[in-house]
This record gives sequence, structure tokens and C-alpha cells, in this order.
Amino acid sequence: MSRIGFIGLGNMGGPMVRNLIKAGHSLKVFDLSEEAMNFVVQSGAKAAKSVKEAASGVEFVISMLPVGVNVKEVFMNDGVIAAADKGTILIDSSTIDVETAQAAYEAAKVAGFDMIDAPVSGGVTGADAGTLTFMCGGDKNTFEKAKPILQCMGKNIIHCGNAGLGQVTKICNNMLAGINALAASEAMVMGERLGVSRQTLYDVISTSTGRSYIFENSNPMSGVCTNSPANNDFKPGFMAKLMLKDLRLSQAAAQSASTSTPLGAVATAAFQQLIENGHGDADTSSIIKVIDPQLK
Ligand code: NAD
Repeated sequence: MSRIGFIGLGNMGGPMVRNLIKAGHSLKVFDLSEEAMNFVVQSGAKAAKSVKEAASGVEFVISMLPVGVNVKEVFMNDGVIAAADKGTILIDSSTIDVETAQAAYEAAKVAGFDMIDAPVSGGVTGADAGTLTFMCGGDKNTFEKAKPILQCMGKNIIHCGNAGLGQVTKICNNMLAGINALAASEAMVMGERLGVSRQTLYDVISTSTGRSYIFENSNPMSGVCTNSPANNDFKPGFMAKLMLKDLRLSQAAAQSASTSTPLGAVATAAFQQLIENGHGDADTSSIIKVIDPQLK
């Protein structure tokens, strides 16, 4: 069993830590939020007082932070890289921009550490159940060493290529998920206004060619499928502001690859509108409010 430092204990990091503890690993954790810390300490993790304390005396450091700036701060600015013991493997599971992921990998390499980017899909439900998909970028042998640890938190652990390519895979997925959430909203609102019940729309489309994972599992219309955040006043789940972050990352990446992504651009604008309307902390499925602000 391994000694693991874990930094970032929010909606995703919290349940991921609990699964590592369940698998028998010894966890040292840090978060800026005391509440987030207490939550995992109750599950058996040891509280560290700083990033550096969480990163020292362990074999693996895993981070699950909101954005690239946080990853820079935690790894590069007198943080993990300065404090970790020789041979510690560094794993960043946050969803961040490709450039920062590659810069963190290079900074780790220069200091003698192996690092992978390993963003996830599967949301809070997958984090709870230990069924996340990990999309990993970095050296293949570092990936192989990290894999048994990632398997305690996920079901599909995939090497996508060199440093940063886990993040590329992730933003391709999330661009599609954002587009699908908006598309599902359009179809559900239009069908109901034209007289078909929302349940009939759901039942038919879920077994037809318009189906998607989002449509079936996080349908933006309330009451049609179990477990959709729409049934629970759009409590996240995956916050709309994080989806906007990922869509923006996808648009920056599309530009750098000279790729036209018109649907990604429309979804980015729609989520921007949703957030300007004050729904940034609501689940992604609340994008339906852009299509029908009065929806019940
Ligand atoms: P969150 O905001 O719930 O948690 C992030 C945690 O990081 C917070 O507790 C915050 O206090 C902590 N933090 C921030 N800066 C820190 C620092 N310098 N030192 C220590 N702790 C710090 O976010 P989340 O939903 O857990 O998402 C984390 C990452 O996972 C994001 O990049 C997100 O895009 C990605 N993600 C989220 C989901 C989801 O469904 N929530 C799904 C897939 C991927």
C-alpha cells in the first residue's frame, strides 16, 4: 500500500480520497477550505498544514484543483516540486489548459520528477463510485507506475500520449458534453411546447438516434430520469462555471490547432449567457434556462 499526498478536496477530490483510503492507502491531505479538509479527515485521512507538508514523505502526489493558475501555484511556486521526496510520482487530475499541463511536466522533469496529467470524466457520481475515466498524458512508464493508484478511483485508465495529451482528450470530451447539454435542452423544450409530454420525449429519444450520455443520464428537463441534477433544483454535479471554463479551453485549443468548431463556439456563448444570468454554481444541465428561463 502506498503513501499518497492529495491536494484539492472539493466535489471530486473528496470522494476520490475516500476511495483511496478504502483501497488501503495512507493519505495526507491539504485544501484551503477547512470544511473540505474536515470531510475527508473524518474518513481517515491525515490533515497537512500546507501544500508542502502534504507533498513530503509520500510516494505519490495527486492534485484535483479548479484551474491552471491553481496548478501552477501548487506545483511550481515553492510547492510540491520544492517539497516532494526524490522518486515521488506527481499526478495532476485537474482539468486545465494544455500549456500549463506541459509547463508543469517540464518543471517537474527539470527537478528530477516524473509527472502525468490525468484529468477525469464521470463527474461526482463516478468519483463516488470509483468508476472515473482517467485520460493520461506523459511518459508511458510513469503512466504504468501511476495506473494501480488510479485504478482505486476509476474504471478506465487510458494513456493518451505525451504530456498534455490527457488534457487535449478531456477538452474534446467536454466540448461535446457541453454541446450535448445545450442540444438536449433545445429538443426537450421544443417538443414539450409542441405538445409531446417530456417523459415521452425522453423515452423515445433515449432509444433513438438523438440519444447521448447527457440526454440519458443528466437530462436538463426535470422529472424524466432518475439522478439528473434537474430533479434537485440543478444542484451540482458539474457546475456550469466549470463547463464554461472547459469550453473556453476547447476554443483556445481549437484556435491553436486551426480547427473550426462552430458548435463549440455556440455552446461557449450559451454557457457564458447562463453564467451572466447568475447560474454559475448550478449544474451544467441548467443550460436549459437559456432556452426557457421560465421552465418549471
Ligand atoms: P471544487 O471547486 O469543488 O474543488 C476544488 C478544491 O480545490 C476546493 O476545495 C478548493 O478549496 C481547492 N483549492 C483551490 N486552490 C487550492 C490551493 N492552492 N491549495 C489547496 N487547495 C486548493 O472543484 P471540483 O468540482 O472538485 O473540480 C476539480 C477539477 O476537476 C476541476 O478542474 C474540474 O474542471 C474537474 N472536474 C470536475 C468534475 C465535476 O463533476 N465536478 C468532473 C470532471 C472534472
